[in-house]
Amino acid sequence: MPRCQNPRCRTDYPPGTFKCINPFCQCLLPEAVVAGRYRIETLLGLGGMGAVYRASDTFEMQQVAFKVISATSGNMDTAIAIERFRREARYAYQLHHKNIVPVLNFGQDGNLLYLVMPLITGGTLKALLKAEQPYRCNSCSSTTYRSPGYQTLEPAHSPG
Ligand SMILES: [Zn+2]
Repeated sequence: MPRCQNPRCRTDYPPGTFKCINPFCQCLLPEAVVAGRYRIETLLGLGGMGAVYRASDTFEMQQVAFKVISATSGNMDTAIAIERFRREARYAYQLHHKNIVPVLNFGQDGNLLYLVMPLITGGTLKALLKAEQPYRCNSCSSTTYRSPGYQTLEPAHSPG
């Protein structure tokens, strides 16, 4: 029996249900298949306009991060969010930059807009859930390399 994975919801649904019907939630349930290709596995995080799941790409046979926003409510904020989502998806899809999470695919299935990214954890997930600049990876650019410490090389065993 599929159960909504939103910690604040946890509603049980009959088998074959793919989406939570609570208006405040609307999470995709495990085993839901989006666009005939992406099978939802686990809810990774919830943001203001949508959610990020771990999903299985049944074409490529790999696990991906799957961001979804719902276009159902039709208010102004949603319209703006959708437009921004589309723009950012196109932008990230075209760009290959070390500080931007690459977009593998994006599209629409019914009233769901989705964005497919490589499955990376930690700071990237946090960045994905931010409303503004969702694809920038803050933790990527801050890595500094210390010069290697002074090393004493033991002299090789010299003959004699
Ligand atoms: Zn729910």
